[in-house]
Amino acid sequence: MGISGAFKGVDRTAVFQSRLLAWFRSEGRDYPWRRTRDPYAILVSEMMLQQTQIATVLGRGYYQRWMEAFPDVVSLAAAPEPEVLRVWEGLGYYSRARNLHKTAQAVLTEHGGVFPRSVEGLLTLPGIGRYTAGAVASFAWNLPAALVDGNVARVLTRLLACDEEIDRPAVQQKLNDWAAALLNRDEPRLHNSAIMELGQRICTPRAPACLICPVRSVCASAGPDAVKRPRKRAARETVLVTEHALFALRKGKLLLHQESGRRRQGLWKLPERSTDEVHGLPEILTAPYTITHHRVTLHVYESREAIAGPGETWHPLAEVEALPMPGPYRKALNRIMENRLL
Ligand code: SF4
Repeated sequence: MGISGAFKGVDRTAVFQSRLLAWFRSEGRDYPWRRTRDPYAILVSEMMLQQTQIATVLGRGYYQRWMEAFPDVVSLAAAPEPEVLRVWEGLGYYSRARNLHKTAQAVLTEHGGVFPRSVEGLLTLPGIGRYTAGAVASFAWNLPAALVDGNVARVLTRLLACDEEIDRPAVQQKLNDWAAALLNRDEPRLHNSAIMELGQRICTPRAPACLICPVRSVCASAGPDAVKRPRKRAARETVLVTEHALFALRKGKLLLHQESGRRRQGLWKLPERSTDEVHGLPEILTAPYTITHHRVTLHVYESREAIAGPGETWHPLAEVEALPMPGPYRKALNRIMENRLL
């Protein structure tokens, strides 16, 4: 399906493409992953940026640290999973790290260490979806692959005055079709970077800068209407959760539980207990944190009598730093240790 409604016409598409590109050529930002053509490095950046802001990925050094620890597919494929999770620690959504690990192993064992050079080939790798395949294909090899992330979806719905809810599968398909129809096939790498950056910096969710927008003349929402789009289904309600965990340190060893659930599999954390089991124990820390739509309050209690339950083992304190741990638990543990030194 091509472009409909307000954006019909070859001329408007050409105007959009040329203005977007001219703006990006003079204003586009310089990120480390834009300086490389290595599909592995591009994949790492894309996986990190899926749920995390650029400022965090770069500002807190996650991307640089990862590329130093695992500079290529071979080094990542050979690394043990706990080490992979440890280097990812702090970014959350650990399935991304596991998928990167599995992808590196698949590229090595099934493709002789070379990434398949097409969207279809990339889609066969673990955890690589339509967006990521399009990003790697266009950024690494300049292939004419369109892509739609949250920023691009916002630009497209505004540009084309789309009032349908964008999280419905049929509308997602429509957005992919529009992105493909608008793609500048002579410059797919620059075009995709440009439309994403337009969404990040100009066509922002709450304060789009329509007055200085390079594609204003072909946009159906320029002005006050812009903030009404895109429309989404109502957000899930926040769920309040309380966690009770033990800080049990005995003879220099700390009791930890290894997670087996899908989201945090393989990560270590302070062992959880029921309200009854922590009754009467001194509470040494309260640490609120948020994960997806859950607002969690973590209460930590000191226990001198704890007995290891299923999945729980004692670890020398000096080795705990090297174990992968969910961010909120790492912070809580660091605070407890700091308090004990005061
Ligand atoms: S004119 Fe406004 S709404 Fe349209 S693309 Fe530019 S910033 Fe977004």
